[in-house]
Parts: sequence; C-alpha cells; structure tokens
Amino acid sequence: MTILYIVIVILILEYAVNELVDYLNLKHELKPVSPYLSRIFSYMQRKKMHLYHLANYRTGFFSSLVSLIVILSLLIFNGFGQIDYWIRSYFDNEILITLAFFGVIGVGGSILALPWEVYNTFYIEKRFDFNRQTPVLFILDKIKGMAVSILLGGGILAIVTWIYYNLNDHFWWIAWAVITSFSLFMTMFYSNLIVPLFNKQRPLEEGELRAEIEETAEKAGFKLDNIYVIDGSKRSTKSNAYFTGIGPKKRIVLYDTLINDLSNEEIVAVLAHEIGHYKKKHVTLNFITGVLQTGVILLLFDFITGYDAIYKAIGAVKPSFHMGLLVFGFLFTPASILIGLVTSYFSRKAEYQADAFAAKLGKARALIGALLKLTDKNLSNINPHPAFVFMHYSHPPVNERIKYLESLKDQS
Ligand SMILES: [Zn+2]
Repeated sequence: MTILYIVIVILILEYAVNELVDYLNLKHELKPVSPYLSRIFSYMQRKKMHLYHLANYRTGFFSSLVSLIVILSLLIFNGFGQIDYWIRSYFDNEILITLAFFGVIGVGGSILALPWEVYNTFYIEKRFDFNRQTPVLFILDKIKGMAVSILLGGGILAIVTWIYYNLNDHFWWIAWAVITSFSLFMTMFYSNLIVPLFNKQRPLEEGELRAEIEETAEKAGFKLDNIYVIDGSKRSTKSNAYFTGIGPKKRIVLYDTLINDLSNEEIVAVLAHEIGHYKKKHVTLNFITGVLQTGVILLLFDFITGYDAIYKAIGAVKPSFHMGLLVFGFLFTPASILIGLVTSYFSRKAEYQADAFAAKLGKARALIGALLKLTDKNLSNINPHPAFVFMHYSHPPVNERIKYLESLKDQS
C-alpha cells in the first residue's frame, strides 16, 4: 500500500506545484515592465494579452483538476486493476493485453481531453482571432492523429512488449536499441512521412524574398533546398519557424503566416536564427540526450519491475509489462519533471546561441523587430514569472532575448 500512497502524494504535489506556478505567472504579468517594453506594447494590447492568458489559465486549471480527480479515483478504487481484469477476460496473449490496456487508457484520456480542446479551439482561440480550423478539419485531424498513434505507437509498443516477455534477461538494452533506431528514423523522416498528413510544405518560391534568403543562407553555409514554407494558416493565425531533422534530412520550416506578418529583412533574421540551430547541431545534441535518457529510464524500469509490491499497489491481476509501466510512469513523475527542467535550461541556452549566430550575420536589429512583432501577434507573455520560465520555457522570455541581442548588436 505504501507505493500507492507515494503515487497519490506525487500526483497531488505535481498538480499543486504546477497550479501555484501558473497562478504566480498570471499575477506577475500585471507587474510593471521595462520602460522599453511599455513603450512598444500599449496598455490595451497588454490587457488583451492578459485576458488571453487568463482564459487559458482557467481552462488549464479545470482540465488538470478533472484529470487529477479521475486518476486518483482510478488509483483509490482499484480502477486500473479492474481494467486489467476486464481486458484479460477477452485476451490471453500478453502483447494484445498490453495494446488493449494502453488503448483503453489512451481512448479514455482522449475523451477526457476532448471537451477542453473543443472549448480551447472554438471558443478561446476564436475569441482572440487565432483559430482558422473548421469543425471538419478538427475532426479529420483527430482521426489522422489517432491512426498515427495506433500505427506507430501501437507498433513500437508491441515490439517492446514482445522483447519484455521473450528476451527478458536482455530487455533494457535491446529495447533501448529498438527505441533508439525508431526515434532516429522518426527524427529523419518526420517531415516526409507525418507532416504531409496534416500540412502542405512547399519549397520557397522564386522572388525577392528568396533572393534575400539565398544571400544569407549562402553566407551561413546552408543549402537553400532545405528551406520550406508550411501552410500553418489553415489552423491558426499564429506564426512560427523551426529547424528539424538530422543528417541529410535536415530542413528549416517557415510558417506562411510568418511570411505574411514579417518584413523580408525580419524573415531573413528568423532564418539566420534557425540556421544557428543547425550550425550548433542542436537537433543532434537533443537527439543524443534523448537516447541517453531513454537508456537510463529503461534500466530503472527493468529494476523496478522486479518488485511484486508495485503490482499489488495498483491491484494488478498478476505482474505484467503494462501494469509495471503504468506504476513506473507515476513513480517517475518527479524525475521527469527534473529532466524537463534541465532540458528547458539547455534549450534556452541553445536559443541564445542561435540568436548570437544571427547577430554575427548582422541580423540582430531585424531579429529584435521580428521577435517584437511575433510577441505582439501571438499574444505572448512579455512579463512571465521567473519560476514559470524556469519550469516551462524552452525559449528565454522576449525581454531577455532583446537585451542579449542589444548587447551583441555592436559586434556585428
Ligand atoms: Zn530557436
């Protein structure tokens, strides 16, 4: 029983800490900002930003509360054990049992999340003029997303379960090798296989912008063929850009909304930032850290599943891969939060490096312009609480980035 209590305490603490930090963040936004930012963002605009964050905060608060209550009820009233028992009355094969178990949990979780997603997309995002999704597109996305989860998630889960039951003595490292190969494949082919199911990507078309980009890409040693424009506008008016892929499959993707919202010079600056990610090998480094994390997690999982107490804690019919994985997931929460903090910290460092790279190409001023426009358009938080930044920000807050770019400007 002790393990069950530990899991319950972990889940309640996680919720409490998250809600506290969310609340601090919401309040912090109302505090005065630097004279520089208050000159750029009007009182009305800041109020609009706050209302947007308030709306998101409220949904976040209630949806997390509902999820917490459901999970705690399942734990306290032996619900997971009941699901395990119920599935075993239909299947004998442990691989099918694992797939059915996570299928039930996954479908349950999706049903629970659906009302919030609908509310978020068709009420909040619409109210702030971000949403471009029609109900038909929303439903199509859901169906495609489910098909991808079943095929890819179910496939890898079936393989790992098979390894667990058939090659148990060597489970952790064989599973590690399989998961690593799978994620390498996905990192390489994500843009070719998954993105086209949801979006259209086209190479940058000829014209003034392409010529300007060509010049910078050449200076920075990046192949122009790897720059794509994606139709983000089909779902949201928010804009973005990202660098993805590994080895020969690397590419920079610009949202069509970004191209509409920014001047050519600013787009080139964003691109210079993205090339910075490529030059500093950030995707490769992330991939390697992810692989190492997976190895450690599998080793710990292998260790913990040797104890019968974890299965008893959750009311499992008998020791099994899926019930072990479920309890492990709960127990691992504090460690995964810690990993998240470290990952976000390095991600913010990486953003500074990419900014510095853009500044070196003489794009500091234009990048500042782009950041301000994107912050304005996407209604980002210009005054987040430091604790919230520490916990959740993969990018430094906009004022910090501007300060940093200002400090570099003279060098370029
Ligand atoms: Zn970046």
